[in-house]
Amino acid sequence: MSHPWRAEGAILAWGLGIACLIGWLEGRIDLALMVLFGAYLGRHLYYLWHLLAWLQESNTTLPDGNGIWTEVFHRLRLMQRRHQRRKRRLGKILKRFRQATEALPDATVVLDGDFSIEWFNPAAAQLLGLRRRDLGLRICDLMRSPRFVDYLRQRRFEQALTLPSPQNDRLHLEIRVVPYTKDRYLLIAQDVTQIRLLERQRRDFVAHASHELRTPITVLKGYLETLIDTETAVSEPFRPILERMEQQIRRLQYLIDDLLYLGRLETSRNETARQKPVDVGQLLDDIRQETEQCHDRHAPLCLAIESRARLLGNEEELRSAFTNLIVNAVKYTPADGNITIRWYETEDGACVEVSDTGEGIDPEHLPRLTERFYRAPGAEIRNPTGTGLGLAIVKHVLNRHDGRLEIDSRPGDGSRFRCRFPRRRVYL
Ligand code: ADP
Repeated sequence: MSHPWRAEGAILAWGLGIACLIGWLEGRIDLALMVLFGAYLGRHLYYLWHLLAWLQESNTTLPDGNGIWTEVFHRLRLMQRRHQRRKRRLGKILKRFRQATEALPDATVVLDGDFSIEWFNPAAAQLLGLRRRDLGLRICDLMRSPRFVDYLRQRRFEQALTLPSPQNDRLHLEIRVVPYTKDRYLLIAQDVTQIRLLERQRRDFVAHASHELRTPITVLKGYLETLIDTETAVSEPFRPILERMEQQIRRLQYLIDDLLYLGRLETSRNETARQKPVDVGQLLDDIRQETEQCHDRHAPLCLAIESRARLLGNEEELRSAFTNLIVNAVKYTPADGNITIRWYETEDGACVEVSDTGEGIDPEHLPRLTERFYRAPGAEIRNPTGTGLGLAIVKHVLNRHDGRLEIDSRPGDGSRFRCRFPRRRVYL
């Protein structure tokens, strides 16, 4: 028997012994035993009463008790101390966490499943104009921008939303909503005014510089072409030099055109008024004919229009994106190869696909191809006038059409560029 039970047994044995002795001396053993068990029960009830009082109000103290109760109360006191220590530790962690979130420069708001506000930090009060009395209110009743309301309603939280601050419309906020349990959301709003300003300055600089360079380059190109075309203007040894100069000037001109076009894509709004259902089959056929006219010796271009569906979009932008892909296929595929241009429907939309049997691209370069000015090694040999901006333009145009670019390629196996468009853009 363990120690507490032994102590309890001893109390009972002593009680029984004394009761029997007194009962025997007085000749009333039954009465003595009844008194003993009454006292024994009373003792348990007394300690149970203490235990209940302590459970109901834990700031009362537990008695030391005796017998089995000594052990019970001792263990309860230990548990209470452990619990208090854990509570203090958690309290400290919570305090530190609160201090950290309060020090965050980004607005942080905890929302419940209905998007009602449960908690927010001081930055949220400053950037979003929230006040204590707003706790429990739905955030869309306080931030009423239709774009924000739409963003919450559609729950497309994988993308961030940029909005002017409801407090000060000169501040731009990048808003992200992160679901973190089944019915809780964390809204984080970051002040991106400075980043926006720098981006705009960079775009303006590139646009102005490109614009200013355009005229002198056109003049230089004109003179060079005249010199090359006039048989007697330069002696024969200088002709290859001039031709090389002309090629580089042409490259510069493409660069400037592409930079200006990218700048326009970045700054102009994607106006729905300029979007219409585009006959993609016809558009691809036009581009194929133009490409064939502009390039001398190239791999045959095979057109496979497998759908009559139209694509809702800006025809000029789509033309530029598809032309970039088709001209790239022509440039990077030897004349004895094959190029296929397809337009077909898929389960979730439709695709324009340009595949070639050219030299292909090493997988390590694939993720970087749509970066500006990125060219895989060796590209300058096949395409000396390339700018490294074509695929950046394609990606931008596809983004503006809710589409995405997929590239499959392996060295020696050719490449496949697939532009995927969602069902909502496809008109049957
Ligand atoms: P570039 O003007 O150099 O063609 P792009 O942005 O259009 O610029 O393409 C980026 C790079 O992607 C190219 O430099 C080339 O390395 C690679 N690339 C693009 N299309 C193809 C293709 N069809 N086959 C092989 N490589 C390609």
